[in-house]
Amino acid sequence: MKMRITLLLLATTIGWQQINSQVRKTPIACSTIEPRQSFLFDTTKPRGLVDQYYLWDNGQTIYVKIMNGSDAKKQMIERYAKEWEKYGNIFLTFVTSGPSNIRVWLDNKGGNNSLVGINANSVAQDTKTINLDTTSFVTPAYTYTAIVHEFGHALGLLHEHYSPISGIKWNKDFVYSELKRTQGWSKEDVDNNLFKQMNVSYTNGTTYDKKSIMHYPIMKGWTTDGYMVDWNNSISDGDKALMAALYPKTGNRTTERPRFYITNYTTMQVLPNTTKQGISLYPSFNIKTAGTSGTVYFIAIFYDKNGNAIKASSNDTYNVFGYAGCYRSLTLAVDKNLSANKISSQDFELFIPYSAFPAGTPTDVEAKFIAILKDGDEWKNLYSSEPVKFKLVR
Ligand SMILES: [Zn+2]
Repeated sequence: MKMRITLLLLATTIGWQQINSQVRKTPIACSTIEPRQSFLFDTTKPRGLVDQYYLWDNGQTIYVKIMNGSDAKKQMIERYAKEWEKYGNIFLTFVTSGPSNIRVWLDNKGGNNSLVGINANSVAQDTKTINLDTTSFVTPAYTYTAIVHEFGHALGLLHEHYSPISGIKWNKDFVYSELKRTQGWSKEDVDNNLFKQMNVSYTNGTTYDKKSIMHYPIMKGWTTDGYMVDWNNSISDGDKALMAALYPKTGNRTTERPRFYITNYTTMQVLPNTTKQGISLYPSFNIKTAGTSGTVYFIAIFYDKNGNAIKASSNDTYNVFGYAGCYRSLTLAVDKNLSANKISSQDFELFIPYSAFPAGTPTDVEAKFIAILKDGDEWKNLYSSEPVKFKLVR
């Protein structure tokens, strides 16, 4: 499997598990978990940065549950989030029981962050998909902005300052030290949240929108040429146009991509297979397909007990991103709801022979199930499981 080695990092680090590990302070901005892949964009359509692989269906009702907090806060969040309904054919219905697509958790330390679009569908029903940090609710304007911004991500929008056509000349060392001091952000946090620059294909070929509510403020001294961006405390005209193009109220979305998501991943059985002299793995999940047809790589990658991926022993079929692993790729039609190892416990197998593990591989091994969508040159992370421990006894 010829892929860039960085894809492994991508697949294992952008997981939704990360949402729990964010520790943030006051309201500079959100620390949203976003896809890091490049993305081919239709340059004639909406402006602004969006991940079209993670958009909801046009016209969809998205169920939102606020998991905690006072009634007053819940009502406020609902009112602000529903602002987006004015501009696109999308409906946010707030529920207090039953299943939900988006779940909001309020705390006083977790920062503001959200999963992007339909990634939320892959998260367990008892787990948040948006965190709102009430310590950032320092003024009505900040509060409004934080909530609307996070719901912007939840509908598929990306940070506007990642635009490759913004021309922002960051004064990087200064920004690192400022955000370390005021937010406790590491260099990596700053790189991920501010300096990331998407491929030109992510834009719509029109203009960069410094007024977007998805743009962070740029403070004095943060750029080498004095460029600054104010707090954007309202949905800009560009944001409205973007939402209208992504979720058109009449007609269909102009450009469709495969929009797939994994649900109901429970576990992966890992069993020795003496007949075939290797390990059979049976991940249990459902996959829902929408948009267009697309190809998904269902992958198992192997790690030692310290979480380090085991290097592949050769450059053969069992080399995934340079590591010992196995995969099956399937091209899936649109509008399917498929299951693996649900109806029968062993109807979808991944297999790796013992010979694919290099000499000296320890007995205590872990396997992760990873699903990645491939569309043209794009690789989009769909799922990355927790590791499953097993004994490698040949
Ligand atoms: Zn954000």
